[in-house]
Amino acid sequence: MARVFIGIGSNVGDRAANIAAALGRVGELPRTRVLKISSLIETEPVGQTNQGKFLNGAAELDTGLDPADLLCELQQIEDKLGRVRTEHWGPRTIDLDVLLYDDRVIDTPELKVPHPLMEGREFVLMPLAEIAPDVVHPTTGKTAAGLLDALRS
Ligand code: ADP
Ligand code: MG
Repeated sequence: MARVFIGIGSNVGDRAANIAAALGRVGELPRTRVLKISSLIETEPVGQTNQGKFLNGAAELDTGLDPADLLCELQQIEDKLGRVRTEHWGPRTIDLDVLLYDDRVIDTPELKVPHPLMEGREFVLMPLAEIAPDVVHPTTGKTAAGLLDALRS
């Protein structure tokens, strides 16, 4: 089983309900349990700023799915919850990103882990550091709390 952290975001419709629905489905994936869910924080959109504010959070999973299968399942949940893949960084009902997968480093066109932008994003690090301050980011060797401190200083 792998210890995995995912980032969750929504900026369309009932954002908290979208996130709850997505996490419900994640918990129903084969050989997968949701162990912890962070508080949700409201954040300004990144990139295209003419869209609604996001609600962001993170969750810790225990899963027997390998990274590629997990990504595929998460993308199916995004699709089922009505996300239309139009523009990169555009509005979305739900966005599910793999932040960390054990201490694995993965670099394929479809999947990059640790998530390449997590170190620079307070809306990712805050929820992550809330539920797992001591989890280590495998390429920097820093903890989630340490990355958040570094970003803020
Ligand atoms: P973003 O989350 O950056 O706003 P998308 O959710 O539209 O953008 O994701 C675009 C692509 O990112 C997906 O098709 C997926 O293959 C790829 N991707 C690469 N690494 C990851 C990761 N760690 N988690 C989720 N998607 C990833
Ligand atoms: Mg995504």
